[in-house]
Amino acid sequence: MKIAILSRKESLYSTRRLVEAGQSRGHEMQVIDPLRCYMNITPHNPSMHYRGEVLEGVDAVIPRIGASITFYGTAVVRQFEMMGTYSVNESVAITRSRDKLRSLQLLARKGIGLAVTGYAHSTKYTSDLIQMVGGAPLVVKLLEGTQGIGVVLAETNKAAESVIEAFRGLDAEILVQEFIREANGSDIRCFVVGGKVVASMMRKGKEGEFRSNLHRGGTGTSIKITPEERSTAVRAAQIMGLNVAGVDMLRSNHGPVVMEVNSSPGLEGIETYTGKDVAGTVIEFIEKSAKPNQTRTRGRG
Ligand code: ADP
Ligand code: MG
Repeated sequence: MKIAILSRKESLYSTRRLVEAGQSRGHEMQVIDPLRCYMNITPHNPSMHYRGEVLEGVDAVIPRIGASITFYGTAVVRQFEMMGTYSVNESVAITRSRDKLRSLQLLARKGIGLAVTGYAHSTKYTSDLIQMVGGAPLVVKLLEGTQGIGVVLAETNKAAESVIEAFRGLDAEILVQEFIREANGSDIRCFVVGGKVVASMMRKGKEGEFRSNLHRGGTGTSIKITPEERSTAVRAAQIMGLNVAGVDMLRSNHGPVVMEVNSSPGLEGIETYTGKDVAGTVIEFIEKSAKPNQTRTRGRG
């Protein structure tokens, strides 16, 4: 098969590993920078151009769209879908997963365990918003933040109010969330491929840090998850419509609570800490699933 990885950089660990895993299974792998793709929007024969040439014969794409290029990146994925090219994660699902509020609403609707979360546009009723989610300590999050940036712990109601007002003063959209103290600065990342958890790790924030993100200095270990955690991860990925997903959850006193579902989960941490060939499982899944015109949404949405 000819498989294109939509990624800005060939040298990124995840991109390199997918290329390697594909090549070792006899596939032709090509890394394509989505920002250098351009396309013609037409009802007949939509096409994709890349660096001055028509891009043809691609059987499947693996979108690795960074948060900062979601808008253009998902348009590129959508064009591939319109052309009938299989995309391992569909554009609509990627867009969904990038908006934390929308994601949490979708997960809540299906009864997935979540931390109590509040959301408001106006700062007029901030103290009531804080009470609504149970009062301090609280976590305040930028709606489109990533890698732990824009996630703040407010220990008191007064601090929470100031942080909320500061973010809103900058016109940032935010969530306010119950702080799951018992998670102890750790979270669980389940890597889901095709409806199965193929690897999972526990991440722990560095000393004195409640955010467990590896980008914030956290470290990981391979762990055995509970059946409840496994089914929560699988269901969360399925609700988001993602074939490949990194589902993050916290161990709370009342079972697993999902934090977020990532549509371009990194491979470096999970492969390093679990020793598993996760890239290989992604390629295997594509081998089983990629057929022309198989993306369910075919560029809709
Ligand atoms: P990002 O998209 O920036 O990674 P997250 O929502 O995943 O944002 O939050 C980053 C980290 O902060 C989580 O992995 C978790 O360790 C910690 N965290 C986030 N929300 C809470 C919460 N409500 N209670 C306890 N810890 C939290
Ligand atoms: Mg996270």
